[in-house]
Amino acid sequence: MTANERTITSPHLLLLPPGIMSAAWAIYGFPIDKIGAGLITLAIITVFFSAFLRIELPRTDLHLTISDALVFLSLLFYGGEVAIILAMLEAGCSSFYVRRAHPTGLSMSKKTILTNILIAGFSTFVTASVIEMLFGTPETVWRGGDNTLLLSLLAVMALTQFASNTFLAAAYVAGKTGRKLLDVWNEYCFNALVLFCSGAVMAGLSAKALRQIDMVQFVLAVGFFGLIYVTFKRYTDDVKRSTSRADESEVVRADQAEVHIAELKHFVDELTKTAEELGESRERFRHAAFHDPLTNLPNRHYIVELIDRLLSDASSGPHGEFAVLLLNLNRFRAINDSLGHPTGDRIIRHVAKRLGELPHEGAVIGHFGGDEYAVILPNLQGSQTAIDFADAAARSIADVVRFKGRQVYTSAKIGIVPSSAGYDSAHHILRDADLALYSAKDKQKNWMIFDKTMHSSAVSMQQLETDLRYAIVCNELETFYQPIVDLEKLTLHGFEALVRWNHPSRGFILPNDFIPMSEDTGLVIPMTLQILRTACTQIVEWQNSAPANKLLTVSVNLSGKHFSDAGLVGQISTILTETKIDPECLKLEITESSTMEDTENTIEKLRQIRSLGVKLSIDDFGTGYSSLSYLHRFPIDTLKIDRSFVSSMDEAAENDEIVRTIMALAKTLKLNVVAEGIETVQQLTNLQRLGCEYGQGYLFSRPLPAGKIAAMIEEPGRWQNLVSETNFNPEALNSDYLESKFTN
Ligand code: C2E
Ligand code: MG
Ligand code: MG
Repeated sequence: MTANERTITSPHLLLLPPGIMSAAWAIYGFPIDKIGAGLITLAIITVFFSAFLRIELPRTDLHLTISDALVFLSLLFYGGEVAIILAMLEAGCSSFYVRRAHPTGLSMSKKTILTNILIAGFSTFVTASVIEMLFGTPETVWRGGDNTLLLSLLAVMALTQFASNTFLAAAYVAGKTGRKLLDVWNEYCFNALVLFCSGAVMAGLSAKALRQIDMVQFVLAVGFFGLIYVTFKRYTDDVKRSTSRADESEVVRADQAEVHIAELKHFVDELTKTAEELGESRERFRHAAFHDPLTNLPNRHYIVELIDRLLSDASSGPHGEFAVLLLNLNRFRAINDSLGHPTGDRIIRHVAKRLGELPHEGAVIGHFGGDEYAVILPNLQGSQTAIDFADAAARSIADVVRFKGRQVYTSAKIGIVPSSAGYDSAHHILRDADLALYSAKDKQKNWMIFDKTMHSSAVSMQQLETDLRYAIVCNELETFYQPIVDLEKLTLHGFEALVRWNHPSRGFILPNDFIPMSEDTGLVIPMTLQILRTACTQIVEWQNSAPANKLLTVSVNLSGKHFSDAGLVGQISTILTETKIDPECLKLEITESSTMEDTENTIEKLRQIRSLGVKLSIDDFGTGYSSLSYLHRFPIDTLKIDRSFVSSMDEAAENDEIVRTIMALAKTLKLNVVAEGIETVQQLTNLQRLGCEYGQGYLFSRPLPAGKIAAMIEEPGRWQNLVSETNFNPEALNSDYLESKFTN
């Protein structure tokens, strides 16, 4: 082995004396007589070719060379001097070869080459000396045929050469690097033992062979083995190449695997991210599906699911009772129309906040859209807690709301349903809560708890609706007329047409009992059109009956729902044409509350109706908190003072004040005034004193069917003696008396 593989680069001077001494000893004792074809051939092969004849062992940093074997062979054949010279020449040559051929351009300095030469020379010198000492001339040993002795010689030769060579090399490196000799030897040199042993074995075998054949034959054999070697080397090169290709492709595969792993990781990350995003968007969708966007409160779906869940919990175990509250804001449409939708939205949110602030553990507040809310109160002990909550909710909602320096008032009606009634579906609970809510509205209470009578009254309301539909089609509705009297002259001025329903089984039904339902169902429109057509036709007939009646007027009530219907103006116009009534003789009465909801549209609609020539009255004036600032803009002709003010006139003096104020207002706005509900002569005289132009009431007549009006038309001044007559006859104040006077 040579030191070049061990990359030894410096101090060499210490090796110089033993190396030179070894070389000198070899040259001095060189056996010139042994020079012949055999030695020359051996020398050429050793020096020039052995370095090339190396076999690198795949996957190790070792390579087998035959240089050590040839040096050993020369030692056996020609003695130590020849072996030292050949070893030094071979070390020099192979160092040059390595320096030239090293693939990474390993730089091997001249000093290193010299060191290699010196180590090779000195270690061979040591080996030759030990062999000489122990075995005498080696030639005699291998020629002697004692295999045991030969093997011992070979072993000593290999070990001595290994020990001296590697010791020198390790000492050189350790001296140069400052590392421990044993560490360096262990790291670089130990593996070389196998090389020296194999070299010794090869030398031994060759010596054995040479005992049989001469040197020429040996050379031929070497040539033969050379050929085998070349073939073997090609094979090992192939193995090496394919190993390195395999290594390369392993590296490529490893790289690719790394890329794949990175891609896979990225893919998994993306998948995780997408799954998270999907999860989030599913959550968002779920939230949107179960929440109201305006308040972010649970919506109807949510509440229905929750109630169903509470019901099934209650059926599967002893869970607490709960209650469902349905809340509706009063007059919310008016707020929306007068203050605008953004303010309406803020009120909706504000009410939601107030509800949320009410104390009840586990209460769930929901918003069903518009002005409707639901509250679920779990864990109840009886319905008193629900009632307390409803009271607190009504109070809290009724508290003033301040927006941008503006004060807004709202209030709510509440329907309550306790779960104890044995429900099996959320829809049934909500249906009953709705009925309780409507009952609260109907009875003007803040809240109502559902009871079964509400259900039956709802059913009968449903029946009533069907019946009203039928009544409209079958002309079961009748128009009654109540005279409107000129209070100054006490003569007939005209009539107010009032609907009556002669129900086949229930008998006469008054408007207040079916008009709200007709408004909810939209039936009020065909119904009013029927009354309008009948009243116009009737008044034209009465007008034509005598020239004195030419100016008789008829007033027809319009509901708020009908007033806001887009087809109203066209419908009136058609009826005017059909009945040929003088439009000036027709008055349409609109309640104060229906004019409040959307003032600008109201004004426009009133103008359109007025453009037909028809007169307009505000009915029940004084009850609807109408904005006086708008009143002067309304194109109207008449104010009808509500019955409540008239009837209370004789009770207290301050009630006169209200009527007086309305009179003053009407005068300013140049409007006529009709007083409703005059029942007593006292009321009549008070109104006359205040200058009220027209009046109607039981004092003059109850509403009567058309057939019973004829007498009144024939005698238009029949009330002129009323004051003096009633003054003396208190019975005459009884409206029944008056009515019977006309009806009988
Ligand atoms: P309204 O337009 O204010 O009609 C006056 C109501 O007062 C009538 O009640 C009438 O019978 C009643 N009344 C008149 N004088 C007196 C009196 O001296 N004492 C008392 N206690 N009551 C008196 P009615 O006929 O029950 O009508 C109630 C309401 O129903 C009407 O109030 C009106 O708003 C509505 N209505 C009546 N007919 C129709 C109709 O054909 N269409 C529409 N849309 N609404 C109608
Ligand atoms: Mg009226
Ligand atoms: Mg009225």
